[in-house]
Amino acid sequence: MSSTNDLLSQLNETQAQAADHFTGPALVIAGAGSGKTRTLIYRIAHLIEHYGVRPNDILAVTFTNKAAAEMRERASHLISGADDLWMSTFHSAGVRILRAYGEHIGLKRGFVIYDDDDQMDMLKEIMGSIPGIGPETTPRTIRGILDRAKSNLQTPDDLERRGEPYISGIPREAAAEAFRRYESRKKAQNAIDFGDLITETVRLFQERPDILDKVQNRAQFIHVDEYQDTNKAQYELTRLLASRDRNLLVVGDPDQSIYAFRGADIQNILDFQKDYPDAKVYMLEHNYRSSASVLNAANRLIENNAERLDKTLKAVKEDGHPVSFHRATDGRSEGDFVAEWLTRLHSEGKSWNDMAILYRTNAQSRVLEESLRRVQIPAKIVGGVGFYDRREIRDILAYARLAINPDDDVALRRIIGRPRRGIGDTALVKLMDWARAGNTSILTACANAENILERGAQKATEFATLMQGLSDAADAYGPAAFLRTVMDASGYLDMLRQEGQEGAVRLENLDELINAAEEWSGEHEGTIADFLDDAALLSSVDDMRTKAENKDVPEEAVTLMTMHNAKGLEFPVVFIVGTEEGLLPSRGALTEGPKGIEEERRLFYVGITRAMERLFLTAAENRMQYGKTNSAEDSRFLEELEGHFDTIDPYGQVIDYRAKTWKQYRPTVPVSQGSSVSAVKNTSSLSAGMAYKGGEKVRHPKFGVGQVLAVAGTGDKQEVTVHFAGVGAKKLLVKFANLSPA
Ligand code: ATP
Ligand code: MG
Repeated sequence: MSSTNDLLSQLNETQAQAADHFTGPALVIAGAGSGKTRTLIYRIAHLIEHYGVRPNDILAVTFTNKAAAEMRERASHLISGADDLWMSTFHSAGVRILRAYGEHIGLKRGFVIYDDDDQMDMLKEIMGSIPGIGPETTPRTIRGILDRAKSNLQTPDDLERRGEPYISGIPREAAAEAFRRYESRKKAQNAIDFGDLITETVRLFQERPDILDKVQNRAQFIHVDEYQDTNKAQYELTRLLASRDRNLLVVGDPDQSIYAFRGADIQNILDFQKDYPDAKVYMLEHNYRSSASVLNAANRLIENNAERLDKTLKAVKEDGHPVSFHRATDGRSEGDFVAEWLTRLHSEGKSWNDMAILYRTNAQSRVLEESLRRVQIPAKIVGGVGFYDRREIRDILAYARLAINPDDDVALRRIIGRPRRGIGDTALVKLMDWARAGNTSILTACANAENILERGAQKATEFATLMQGLSDAADAYGPAAFLRTVMDASGYLDMLRQEGQEGAVRLENLDELINAAEEWSGEHEGTIADFLDDAALLSSVDDMRTKAENKDVPEEAVTLMTMHNAKGLEFPVVFIVGTEEGLLPSRGALTEGPKGIEEERRLFYVGITRAMERLFLTAAENRMQYGKTNSAEDSRFLEELEGHFDTIDPYGQVIDYRAKTWKQYRPTVPVSQGSSVSAVKNTSSLSAGMAYKGGEKVRHPKFGVGQVLAVAGTGDKQEVTVHFAGVGAKKLLVKFANLSPA
């Protein structure tokens, strides 16, 4: 444990002043990496050590559960009694308060909390019967309206009273009616949703000042991190909690406000001084996290936002490595570039844990996961389910498994009801019993359903016929065409199309699966069965990873996550991929005009400022989406950053950004020593008889003459990435590629 003098001496002067702030309201407003979170933690420790405040009287609200756990951990290094601190997210604080006092506002004990899926299910039931809501309206749209209303503390009546005739394309009265019915149905089922965790707590505090007083006893000193991302409901909750003792310290950075789309209001932090005219304001101006090169780029970028509070942020660290930018031919080469550099930095002594890959959307993770896997880089994906773990992917692969192996009862049970085909549980049990007695498969039982079931036999035989057809297709088609057939013939696509926007996301993922199969066939000779083996390997790695995480086993791994999830975190090495128009800024933001662009710019700023030592930005010239490759344009943000990064080729050589692509260069340096991609033991067993090092000219029977860019794997598994003029980069398995020297 530190003595209090020790504590403050670990901060700079302004940080120390903020940490020494005792009573009354205070605002710490400062740029990324300036030690806001550090100051907040030290302030808590100092309150206890120096001012004798009991840990029991202190509340700290953070944005994620992970951040709360980390904060507790960091506090426990500074002081004793950290276990008694109340550290949580707004939502978990709400659960705790409502579990204790919810009865006073009519919540029954043991209420359940509805998650997103439950919410959607209920909305689906309700929507059909509301005039003004047509079949084209998705439950997700309605949920969006309800969530936003709740973020703004609006009731159905408030919604009804709003000026505009339509909300998100739905007549105002209809939206209000859906909201009303949803609320009453939810109440009847003794449930509350996520938004309610905040709004109901606010209502409790408003209606029962005596209870508010009790809770205030447990929160005499209140801290809020990432205050720029609070919405109106959270703001009100904070205001009520702090209203008695007024010991409220908030920290935040308006430039990092990235949740406007969920109702966060940047105004909350900007108005803090209006709400609390006696607030002490502390501005931190030194960035301790990032090298000067990284910080300069971040500062340069964010200056392009018109609506902002001007702040100073000076680097404490030296320049360090310049920021690097690389434009790859396509998503796959982009992933390989990242993998190559991860390997290189790892071999230079960086731990996998020190490196992170950040992207705009979870769908971008698949290509990256695969690139990392190919060179055996351990990866952990934060937020978002691993691609091959997603329900729709597993379902379609289960169909495929059953098509090539009718005995796969596990696959059958997974998909017999997806989509629903009128085979109920009772029928299924009978079919299973029959199969077990005859020592045969459930699918065989389905085919013989007429002898087993009194009712609904036809549905089961139809299913057997469907599977027979798919089994024939498996023999006749290549993997991608076959998977497409499965999706279509099974009725799975139709089912998703009826699920509105939720389904649309799943449809996108299925498109990605087709892309994956398409790519796979470009490099492997093989059938759907071979593809399934490879996919199974991928998911078993996923499973291992998930299990390891669940057991809290510390694992060395590169972190993959969205920029949203990276808020507040830091890594020595950061890769930001997909710096392209339509990805960053996202397609959605492009339609929203300047406001949307400014939010995306803040998001990119958050991404950049996660890097401590090295930052890599990448883009692809061609991006595969929906099974088609389209040419992609560099993000406008890159232009804004010009002069603040070096454009590099795959070997790390600096080239001209304007030269559009590094392909025009013929680097003479082979792939770096020490990286796994180059550390290939070439053996004479290679069928092509060549030992590739990278850089060689080769001839391919179909693609013509090309140049080897990278080599991975050994023996029969050896792969080369070859760039062919007019064709682009191709990953080829040497064994099958039929390459000859050119
Ligand atoms: P963000 O805006 O990204 O949330 P932040 O302002 O909360 O950033 P911190 O995460 O608290 O910044 O600090 C960034 C890094 O700088 C941390 O590694 C922290 O330990 C370090 N740091 C901050 N202040 C000091 C200091 N006075 N001396 C040494 N290191 C510091
Ligand atoms: Mg922070």
